[in-house]
Amino acid sequence: MVKLRFAPSPTGNLHVGNFRTALINFLFTQKYNGHFLLRIDDTDIERSRVEFEKSIKEDLSWAGLNWDSLVKQSDRLSRYKQVLESLIEKELVYPCFETPEELSLKRKSQLSSGKPPVYDRSSLKLSLKDIEGFKSEGKKPHYRFLLKHETVFWNDMVRGDSKYNMGNISDPIIVREDGRFIYTLASVIDDIDLKISHIIRGEDHVTNSAAQIQIFNSMGANVPIMGHLSLMTDIKGEGLSKRTGGLSIKDLRNEEIESLSLNSYLSLAGTSENIILKENLKEIISDFDITNFNRAPTKFNYNDLKNLNSKYIQKLDYEELKLRFANHEFKLEKNVWDLIRANVSSLNEIQEWENIIYGKLKETKVDKSLKKEFSKYLPNGEFDDETWRNWINNLKENYDMNKGEIFKLLREALTGYKAGPEMSSLIIILGKEKVLERLNN
Ligand code: GLU
Repeated sequence: MVKLRFAPSPTGNLHVGNFRTALINFLFTQKYNGHFLLRIDDTDIERSRVEFEKSIKEDLSWAGLNWDSLVKQSDRLSRYKQVLESLIEKELVYPCFETPEELSLKRKSQLSSGKPPVYDRSSLKLSLKDIEGFKSEGKKPHYRFLLKHETVFWNDMVRGDSKYNMGNISDPIIVREDGRFIYTLASVIDDIDLKISHIIRGEDHVTNSAAQIQIFNSMGANVPIMGHLSLMTDIKGEGLSKRTGGLSIKDLRNEEIESLSLNSYLSLAGTSENIILKENLKEIISDFDITNFNRAPTKFNYNDLKNLNSKYIQKLDYEELKLRFANHEFKLEKNVWDLIRANVSSLNEIQEWENIIYGKLKETKVDKSLKKEFSKYLPNGEFDDETWRNWINNLKENYDMNKGEIFKLLREALTGYKAGPEMSSLIIILGKEKVLERLNN
């Protein structure tokens, strides 16, 4: 059975990088009729917040990434304690009493003598009597997992044959002195108990994975198949950190990015496929192939995403548009939608054009007396398909300006914009009265 999990820590809003991991896990399960588990990694009680858990769930639901089951690590603490006891018994886990200051001093002196800052395992040498002594002084131990100093190998779905030399890393702390479980062990226990078949996550977890493979092995469990996605960077190749800001799913939603645009974009970014807008989630699932993802960093190009979003909006026909934005009371009729659709990429922009067409125009930069002059040359009679062209020709004959200039100024005088929908049709929709009003007031 294919079973994958997305395991966010509810310590902040979902960021585009993490969302991508969620999407790819989801797509993988859907492609192989598997099970998508949402695991809330909330063992860090100081930083975890229910409101973040709620907002993560909202974002996933918005994107259509529905989970089949949900587990919270905070509900599983007694199970973790039980496993910890058995690992201590097997001497795979050992108590340590160094304070953070002592550890930091050790690291500094290792670094200054050119050695890698790997934990020296001093606590491993403590006798039972030492340990009892520390405890009776009121000192609380933290626990480390005893790594085997050998090379760990795995076949990575994204990175291919992979290996990691465990001699280079410190025995990972798995329980803090205040008793809080750290993700490293808790995650393995969950992955075993919940029968996770594949783990797909970011490349920043490679070292974790190597240590966790040893933990899986030490517990006699099968190691899930792993895949590490390259990290996302901005277009300059710099990390998409919190510092960059503005890239939470909440922000993208506020910027009216559609879930289909985001899902299409993130299912293709970092592969050698072209970035295109997919028809629906079903198509994204059927086109999905984990082996398409490259090892090179994945650039997040906001403009590409925006372009997909414009395509999405522009493809909607009038009925679809009204359905998609059912909460908006559309003033525009079908003919107006057909006229403006090529020029808009969001509901905001649609509203903007509705205001331009049906509302009052804000002051434009076009000279007042020039506007008055323009109005004098408006062809007589009702507006029709020829009106705009005839009007421009009339003006050209009487002014020392080329057609392009006249066109631009008139457009700006009538819409407030230098670009926009086809003017010959737009003036018919505006009507003679409004056109004259805009030129004379
Ligand atoms: N809570 C971890 C994180 O957000 C989960 C990593 C994993 O998928 O195992 O980085």
